[in-house]
Amino acid sequence: MSRLAVVCGGSRGIGKAVSRLLAERGCRLAVLSRDEAAAKATAASLPGADHLALSCDVSKEQEVQKAFEAIQKQCGNITYLVNSAGINRDALLLRTKPEDMLALLHTNLLGTMLTCRAALRSMLHTQGAAIVNIGSVVGLRGNAGQCAYSASKAGLEGFTRSLAKEVASRNIRVNLLAPGFVRTDMTAALKDESVLRSIPLGRFGEPDEVAQAVLFLLESPYVTGQVLVVDGGLQLAM
Ligand code: NAP
Repeated sequence: MSRLAVVCGGSRGIGKAVSRLLAERGCRLAVLSRDEAAAKATAASLPGADHLALSCDVSKEQEVQKAFEAIQKQCGNITYLVNSAGINRDALLLRTKPEDMLALLHTNLLGTMLTCRAALRSMLHTQGAAIVNIGSVVGLRGNAGQCAYSASKAGLEGFTRSLAKEVASRNIRVNLLAPGFVRTDMTAALKDESVLRSIPLGRFGEPDEVAQAVLFLLESPYVTGQVLVVDGGLQLAM
């Protein structure tokens, strides 16, 4: 029986690359994002058949519950959950509006907690169940101009390690992947040469390169509660 993988934020960027790689490896996908048309377009572009696309704002508990109930009903139990839904609102703290702080925390941190909570019961019934949350290297190291974003990503580290401890006895693994700069819509506006110079490998990562590392975490049966940094060496220079 094929494994069911739910990718939150699967319509674009890193989540889309993860969805494609998992579909190539024979998984059935449930692609979630706020924009249903975009999620549907991604699901339709994947190899294999019967992929599901749903509109779901991960920061809204009722939408998360509804989406995961629909997934259970239409596809059965979940093997993999990848939390790639995320937003950035870069600004110095003095210029960051409280509503932007809340939006970052609600999407990046609360959203991941809500989807994990909604998926866990279903994952108890599958072999090899695993969750990968997408954090960020700035959640580990901090970055001027990204206080609220970093806080939301740093929160994911504590959450991931705690959940890994909670569910290890049920054979569900939970890991955090922390990318550096990756070429997606989120970084499209970053044109500054100094950004490139700060990356030891001298280039942004590609979504496919992050997807490979997500696959490694999903398929490694003895790895849990870990943070895997995929950043071209950026952390070494921070
Ligand atoms: P992206 O290209 O902007 O894609 C973001 C995805 O998240 C889209 O599918 C978007 O779809 C979805 N999304 C945003 N808010 C959502 C919400 N409230 N509910 C459900 N889906 C939502 O960004 P990306 O670069 O792939 O980023 C993916 C993850 O990696 C994020 O968590 C980001 O913080 C993290 N990250 C990225 C980088 C980088 O350099 N790109 C570096 C470190 C960490 P809709 O707009 O349709 O909802």
